[in-house]
Amino acid sequence: MTLQEKDSQYLWHPYTQHKTAQTPIVISRGEGALLWDENGKEYIDAIASWWVNPFGHSNKFIADAIYKQLTTLEHVLFGGFTHEPAIKVAEKLLEILPKNQQKIFFSDNGSTAVEVAIKVALQYFFNKNEKRTTIIAFENAFHGDTFAAMAASGISFYTQAFQGMFIDVVRIPVPVKGQEQESFEALENVIKSHNCAGFIFEPLVQGAAGMVMYEPEALAKLIRICKENNVLTIADEVMTGFGKTGKTFAMDYVSEEPHMICLSKALTGGTIPMAITTFTSAVFEAFYDDDINKALFHGHTFTGNPTGCAAALASIGLLQTPEMQANIKRINASHLLFQKKIENHPKVITARTLGVIFAVEIKSDTTESYYGSMRTKLYNFFIEKGVVLRPVGNIVYILPPYVMTEEQLQKVYATIEEAIEMV
Ligand SMILES: *Cc1c(COP(=O)(O)O)cnc(C)c1O
Repeated sequence: MTLQEKDSQYLWHPYTQHKTAQTPIVISRGEGALLWDENGKEYIDAIASWWVNPFGHSNKFIADAIYKQLTTLEHVLFGGFTHEPAIKVAEKLLEILPKNQQKIFFSDNGSTAVEVAIKVALQYFFNKNEKRTTIIAFENAFHGDTFAAMAASGISFYTQAFQGMFIDVVRIPVPVKGQEQESFEALENVIKSHNCAGFIFEPLVQGAAGMVMYEPEALAKLIRICKENNVLTIADEVMTGFGKTGKTFAMDYVSEEPHMICLSKALTGGTIPMAITTFTSAVFEAFYDDDINKALFHGHTFTGNPTGCAAALASIGLLQTPEMQANIKRINASHLLFQKKIENHPKVITARTLGVIFAVEIKSDTTESYYGSMRTKLYNFFIEKGVVLRPVGNIVYILPPYVMTEEQLQKVYATIEEAIEMV
């Protein structure tokens, strides 16, 4: 049997209808922004393998840090024990996160980082004997696939089988240009009519919705409204964190600091699954008590895994190098030029850029669903051309590893231009 045949016999892939899906491509090697399949065909990874890999595939610097940690202390339970790598990650993050963040909680992936934040928001008020059980979230949000994260997510086919089984979530419009006032008013109304514990949002860019962007001033105002009403604010930076928006965190653009921040994806440079939720002291203090019942009874077996911590430290180190910061600026400048070039194309609705994130919406005669026919046509075209891009309906976005060369980036642009002509 070939690897593809064995795959189809044994494996169940994410977000995949196996009856109609194409056979997955077997990737055998990666380096920098490139991937190679088992037949030696080369692909440019223009979406950093689902946004996790800023520093390139098979990065030697991170690999060395992981190897060193694996052969010193690979893992130790985090209940009753601690270790230097976890402390170093905490110190490093507290240095670069918004200044009000004071406590670091480890988990394993973006969904659990969100799950922790939502549970903390709900238990915060439980511990204070206040009845607040509603979570506020944006329309078309994506916060992950575990239950509270799904409840907060607004993309219906991800969650439709579970409607009616969720915690109480009320949705407000995203404050995209022209819709800010509607968003502010909706938030005020929800807070008036519900007992709200928390507001969770993807700051400035809604990734899975198709890189939907909105302004920092609008987000600052929403956070202010929450703070005036004692509603906890949760910035889900799982996608936006670690340089994607051009600053270390999307919240660095926003004048108001949130109560909690969720991190994962690029945290370990795409090597080891790990996530972190961070908190203000005020949030932590609601759990700090002589009464054991007020503790946060949440944990995962691999919490604070030292190898993951070593990978995170190496990754943050790479992010802070002048070379990497220059790469981010170069990619942003190229994106802006490309945006200018194609935004007036008759087949383009809009194009937008923030940091290394670029998205273009292509005109379509039919209403395009997330996994609709245009999406399939585009996806197949890109794969044939050796470029990994996963369009969201009629939206094509680029989120390259920061190490992508200018030549590779120009090839990605040229392929997108060709695709626009083709559809
Ligand atoms: C990907 C993502 C998640 C979920 O992370 P997983 O590691 O896939 O569980 C949560 N929030 C945002 C904003 C994301 O982009």
